[in-house]
Amino acid sequence: MDILVIGSGGREHAIIWALAKSPQADRIYCAPGNAGIGQIAECVPIAVHEFEKLADFAAERKVGLVMVGPDDPLAEGIVDVFEARNIPVYGPRKNAAIIEGSKTFMKDLLHKYNIPTAAYAKFDTYEAALDYLQQQPIPVVIKADGLAAGKGVTVARSMDEAIDALQAIMQDKVFGEAGSRVIIEEFMEGQEMSILAFVDGETVRAMPAAQDHKPVYDNDEGPNTGGMGTYSPLPHIDEAIIDEAMETIVIPTAKAMVAEGRPFRGVLFAGLMITPDGKPKTVEFNARFGDPETQVVLPRLKTDLLDIFLASVNGTLAELEIEWSDEAAVCVILASGGYPASYPKGVPIHGVDAVDRSKALVFHAGTGTSATGELVTNGGRVLGVVGLGADIASARTAAYAEAEKITFEGKHQRSDIAAKALVRG
Ligand code: AMP
Repeated sequence: MDILVIGSGGREHAIIWALAKSPQADRIYCAPGNAGIGQIAECVPIAVHEFEKLADFAAERKVGLVMVGPDDPLAEGIVDVFEARNIPVYGPRKNAAIIEGSKTFMKDLLHKYNIPTAAYAKFDTYEAALDYLQQQPIPVVIKADGLAAGKGVTVARSMDEAIDALQAIMQDKVFGEAGSRVIIEEFMEGQEMSILAFVDGETVRAMPAAQDHKPVYDNDEGPNTGGMGTYSPLPHIDEAIIDEAMETIVIPTAKAMVAEGRPFRGVLFAGLMITPDGKPKTVEFNARFGDPETQVVLPRLKTDLLDIFLASVNGTLAELEIEWSDEAAVCVILASGGYPASYPKGVPIHGVDAVDRSKALVFHAGTGTSATGELVTNGGRVLGVVGLGADIASARTAAYAEAEKITFEGKHQRSDIAAKALVRG
C-alpha cells in the first residue's frame, strides 16, 4: 500500500519511520517533508493547506491511506476534503478537530460532561473580560480561543502581565481571529504530563505517558517553545494516576464527543496537570500526535502503526491488541540560536551521520538541503535526538552523548531533559 503523510516536522519523521517498518507499506510520500524525511520517503512539494492539490495527488497515485500530522489543516477540515473524494484518511474531521481548534468549545464540553479541568470564564469583548480579570487571584491564565501556533496562552504572574496579555489578544489582535474570544482560567499548580491515545469513536487505546519541556531554558526558564524535549515512560508518576486520568478524563471525553455527534477518530492528546492532591485535571486537548511527544512514544510501539491507522479508519480498533516495549526513550531537541524568537536559517549542520544508530534515533524537524547539497537548518527546532535504553537514566545518557556529535553554529539544547524523572525516580 502507498501512503501519503502530510506535514514536515520531527513528528512526521517519527511517524514515517514507524510506518516504514510495516511490511504492508510500499511507497511513502510526504508533503512537504524535510531533509531527513527525504531519506526514507518521497517528498512532494505541496503545502499542507493546499487541500485540493493534496487530494489530487493522492487520487492520482492511488494512495491507500493519507495521514495528517499537524493541527492547522485538521482544524480547517482537511479530513472532510479527502473523505468527500473517498480517499481513506486518518485523522479527525473538522467537527471533532474543534476540540483543539477552539478552547471555548473544549472547556464547555468538559464542563457539560463534568470532566475535571480548571474553572474558567469566556468573553468576546475586551471590557467584560477586563472587568472579570481584575477580580481574579494571581497567578491567572489568559488564553486565546483559537489556534495560535502554541503561543496563545499566558500564565500571568502579575495583574499587569495578565492585562497586557488580554490587550495583546483582544485589542492588538496579535493572533488575528483566534483572539476574538478569550478564556480566563484558574491557575493550576502541579506536574504536567501528556497522554496520547488512539481513538476510534468510543474505543480508546492509550499510548505510554510522556512529559514535555516547553520553556526554552533549563529549570523551565524563558519563553515557551513548541517543546525542547520529552521522555517516556514517567517512572516518577504513579501508574494509578495515569489510570485515573484515562478513566476520568480521556475516555469520558471520547464518549462526550460521540454523544455530541462529533465522534473523534485519530490521536487524542490530553495535556494534564497532576494537582498537589494527586488528582489529574485537563489543561488542554489536541487533536493530533504531539511534537516532540511522538518522537519518544513511537519508538516504544511494537504493533504495526499502519495496522492501527487502518483499524481506526475501518472502525475496528476495538479488535486490535496494541503492544509497547518497556524500553525508555529520551528526546533532546537541538534548536537554532534565538528560537523561539527570530533565528537564522541555512546554517550548515555537521555530524548527523556520526550518531550511533544502535543508541539513538535522529528525527529531523527544521532541516533542508542547500544548493550544494549540504544539510542545513531550516527552522527553529532543527533535530530531535532520541536516546534509547533500558531505563530513563541510560536513555538520557545516550541522547546527550549522541546529541553532542551533532554541531551547527548557534545550536541550543536544554541540559535538563528528563532530569525530574531521575531525581524523583
Ligand atoms: P495550553 O496551550 O492550553 O496547553 O497551555 C500551554 C501551557 O500553559 C501548558 O502546557 C501549561 O504549562 C500552561 N497552562 C495552561 N493552562 C494552565 C492552567 N490553568 N494552570 C496552569 N498552567 C496552565
